[in-house]
Amino acid sequence: MSKTVIPVAIARRGLAIPALSRDQASGPLADSRGRGLRDLRISVTDRCNFRCTYCMPKEVFDANYPFLPHAELLTFEEIVRVARVFRDLGIAKIRLTGGEPLLRRGIENLVAMLSTALPDVDLTLTTNGSALAQKAVALYAAGLRRVTVSLDSLDDATFRAMNDADFPVAKVLDAIDAAAAAGLTPVKINMVVKRGTNDHQVVDMARRFRGTGHVVRFIEFMDVGATNGWRMDDVVPSAEIVRRINEAFPCEPTNPNHHGEVAKRWRYRDGQGEFGIISSVTEAFCSTCNRARLSTDGSLYTCLFASQGYDLKSIIRGQGGDAELARAIAAVWQRREDRYSEIRTAETARARKVEISYIGG
Ligand code: SAM
Repeated sequence: MSKTVIPVAIARRGLAIPALSRDQASGPLADSRGRGLRDLRISVTDRCNFRCTYCMPKEVFDANYPFLPHAELLTFEEIVRVARVFRDLGIAKIRLTGGEPLLRRGIENLVAMLSTALPDVDLTLTTNGSALAQKAVALYAAGLRRVTVSLDSLDDATFRAMNDADFPVAKVLDAIDAAAAAGLTPVKINMVVKRGTNDHQVVDMARRFRGTGHVVRFIEFMDVGATNGWRMDDVVPSAEIVRRINEAFPCEPTNPNHHGEVAKRWRYRDGQGEFGIISSVTEAFCSTCNRARLSTDGSLYTCLFASQGYDLKSIIRGQGGDAELARAIAAVWQRREDRYSEIRTAETARARKVEISYIGG
């Protein structure tokens, strides 16, 4: 695994913001493939207390890793300002993520500011759960209504090995209970499935959370970033995941909640709830992707697998007003052509993409 990768340095070079094309300047925003802009993911910190081997491997994200200095991070006021501009451009949903969002000091204040400024936007947050038991009540009081918790295994040894921070599974299970008790429901639970590492836990995860009201989402291991040593052989295709669950608990597909929903929904035939499948590798969903990402330091990315973003922070911290910011975002979106997962090869998987912790998972 290369230690020479410095994704932030690559990212900082930034792409030039294109001009708004006149003929597309009115009406609902759509990219060059006709995809609208609906979701915004905001990375509020590029730091995490876990070192999940598939996301922030210890060998790369070590004591010498150049995490962003605090002054580079967007302030809460700046995040709310950008979020408001995105909402005016059509965003209906915001996910706070990272890195580990609960590590950002005062995160509940940001939640309160966003939920007050944008009451019509569906606000959610993805966390590794390590600080959720302590923060669940405050997050709910601040206006958060839903949360996604990452949990890759119920087996303690497997989980500790995957988070590579020796974090016990019991604490994440406690956090899920605390989130539900605080009203952050339905709790969604993200499990990244990696062959030979935790795929033996798929049916156990389904069994553990059936009938609880929580929704497990099984995610194919992806070639995000440039440091996780991704190989196609490590991917468990979603069709195989569904087959294994179906053998234990008969299930059937059900309708999406909305156009462009990331997870395909499946429900148990015995009425014990549902689970989701996120198959970005074997069944690419680029054609309906309506997600933009705002990096921790204020760059706009239009694809999880991008290698460069567009610097919005210079506009935010410059003299430009909201109208200039809106024009820049609209212009970038209109020119968007990304469809990485549709054209993925072993070759593209090795490209120097930015890290998911920086642009928000
Ligand atoms: N720290 C938070 C957490 O652990 O949920 C939020 C950030 S994390 C990058 C967001 C989600 O991305 C997690 O559910 C994580 O499992 C997922 N993820 C990270 N790397 C991935 C990969 N290589 N393939 C698939 N999912 C990945």
